[in-house]
Amino acid sequence: MAEDEKLLEIKNLKKYFPVKEGVFRRTVAHVKAVDDITFHIKKGETLGLVGESGCGKSTAGRTILRLLEATAGEIWFEGKNLVDLDKKELREMRKEMQIIFQDPYASLNPRMTVADIVGEPIDIHNLASSKKERNEKVADILDTVGLGPEYMKRYPHEFSGGQRQRIGVARALAVDPSLIIADEPVSALDVSIQAQVINLMQDLQKDFDLTYLFIAHDLSVVKHISDRVAVMYLGKLVEVADKKELFDDPKHPYTQSLLSAIPVADPTYETERIILEGDVPSPVDPPSGCRFHPRCPYAMDICSEVEPEFKDYGDEHFAACHLLEDE
Ligand code: SF4
Repeated sequence: MAEDEKLLEIKNLKKYFPVKEGVFRRTVAHVKAVDDITFHIKKGETLGLVGESGCGKSTAGRTILRLLEATAGEIWFEGKNLVDLDKKELREMRKEMQIIFQDPYASLNPRMTVADIVGEPIDIHNLASSKKERNEKVADILDTVGLGPEYMKRYPHEFSGGQRQRIGVARALAVDPSLIIADEPVSALDVSIQAQVINLMQDLQKDFDLTYLFIAHDLSVVKHISDRVAVMYLGKLVEVADKKELFDDPKHPYTQSLLSAIPVADPTYETERIILEGDVPSPVDPPSGCRFHPRCPYAMDICSEVEPEFKDYGDEHFAACHLLEDE
């Protein structure tokens, strides 16, 4: 693959949060929310990033945008390592990278009109020479996401959940970015509305040449929209592959368990549900070796001692599991 096909390349990214205790607020431990992940996103594709809540996927998204500062690692975007950028350079780069949040209600300022919510990024990046031009742009973008100009003077509480997420999408789109990180954009919506928002995002991807990192806790949500899927467990990537390959031939036991939990529409198709024992362990003191070993139905002695290497098992199908090493 040519290097220039990669729009975003993450190398050994870590994000640790200090745990402070006592009167002097001394750091006694770290929450290893993102612990050494490496992956890339090709221009124009959608990478689905999936894992249970608390696995670090949203922290990874925010760290990539430098809404959180990385503890270590590199974030290469359009030839620049974002970690090295100063405030001014970062501000310019932010125009190219936008985020859509999970809860459209909490992420929209309730005291601002839709015109101001969608127009704010246009103002910040000086993309309009007058208020009139800015409002024309806003009306255009709202039309693109299926909302008429009559909505411009209204406030977020006057909209349904699906409409609010359309406003969130419009705001992200307002500065004509090349990458959008969608952090569980449909998790708070009814299932019927989820499909509408996902279809809208797919249409916009074609029309505006967008690249997506689409974060979700459910593989069934990312199945439709993703070209490739990355599976995260307790701060680590455990598998990354082309979507079809991942759904047809999941290599990691954790991915297999997530897939077995998806209800199947065809009742004649039999699938064995893999029930995982126990809860996700704490990222403050993650299990030794393979972090999945306390819950893995196939765990061997080596699994608690040696961390499996995240490697390519052919055609860019990456996984980290000792079971695969003899294949
Ligand atoms: Fe299970 Fe061991 Fe593979 Fe981890 S390395 S997923 S514990 S078999």
